[in-house]
Amino acid sequence: MKKSVLVTGGTGFLGTQMILQLLQKGYNVKTTVRSLKSKDKVLETLGANGITTLDKLTFVEADLSKDDNWKDAMRGCEYVLSVASPVFFTIPKNEEEMIRPAVEGIIRVLKAARDAGVKRVIMTSNFGAVGFSNQDLSTVTTEENWTNPDEKGLSVYEKSKLLAEKAAWDFVKTQGGELEFATINPVAILGPSLSSHISGSFVIVENILNGSMKSIPNIPLNIVDVRDVADLHIRAMETPSANGERFIASADGQISMPEMAALLRSKRPRLATKVSTKTMPNWLLRFAALFNREAREGSLLLRMNRNVSNEKAKEMLGWEPIGTNEETILATVDNMVVHGIIGE
Ligand code: NAP
Repeated sequence: MKKSVLVTGGTGFLGTQMILQLLQKGYNVKTTVRSLKSKDKVLETLGANGITTLDKLTFVEADLSKDDNWKDAMRGCEYVLSVASPVFFTIPKNEEEMIRPAVEGIIRVLKAARDAGVKRVIMTSNFGAVGFSNQDLSTVTTEENWTNPDEKGLSVYEKSKLLAEKAAWDFVKTQGGELEFATINPVAILGPSLSSHISGSFVIVENILNGSMKSIPNIPLNIVDVRDVADLHIRAMETPSANGERFIASADGQISMPEMAALLRSKRPRLATKVSTKTMPNWLLRFAALFNREAREGSLLLRMNRNVSNEKAKEMLGWEPIGTNEETILATVDNMVVHGIIGE
């Protein structure tokens, strides 16, 4: 019989995709939601995506900031996919308030998992915990790299994920007991959403499409398809040797924001009428970074090494991203049209 898996954050862009793939593989799935009022929406989304028998899915109400119900959530589960975390790309007024749920949340999940005898937890971390301080463009960024928490221009969101991952490894080493642990460190996740809910990462695409970027910064990006990220979590969960490892989730190669804009103009011209044809010179972004925090975050994206290796996931877990960067971006915008998020 297939084992039971807890997915935290079943309402999310990645969380719902994870539930879908686990159910398709025959697993029994439990998921946490912050409010049981979200249950019907998740069920409706799964139903609309071909899951007809929902008797293998159960819901538990749990918040990363509270102890309530985590024990119940873990009961009977062999694996936990710890996906839930605050995702935000705005600049918060209070840094601590945004970082705390991520850091305390993963520790709450790990403690409850250890106490319930869960075999393995896979944490959805972030590439922000890996590669933002490797600025030597002659090297390749791998899972050996760690971002410096004091890196100039590191966003509060990326910092929250970095500190959460560090705290998690520390906990597992010192208090984890028999609990197995691994992390998935995705770059920007795009691709088709199962519902009209999209994640903060879509802001890149939205801002290019809606013309709010009057001139497009020449920032290279690594992206990965949400379906590949879910698949990688399941592989890390199922593969014994993945215990104790980090895995970067990134498609092959990179694409710059002006290249993304050009792709949209040429392949989806009806959606791209507001897409700017101007590229912002790098010196201007660096100059703006002297005065403005958003520009400092952009300037870090410009400095960091985008030569990112996905070899470890491929070699150890047999992972193979399904599409090119271009295909993922086009699938993203086509799906946004389907869900009425953008109009033709
Ligand atoms: P999302 O759609 O915003 O999903 C975030 C999930 O976390 C939602 O289910 C949300 O629940 C839940 N959550 C947030 N704060 C919570 C709290 N205090 N207690 C319990 N649940 C809470 O974002 P996503 O893109 O799917 O992100 C999923 C994971 O991937 C996150 O860990 C994120 O850091 C990581 N990640 C994302 C990207 C990306 O580009 N999107 C890249 C790298 C890593 P509600 O529905 O109740 O808000």
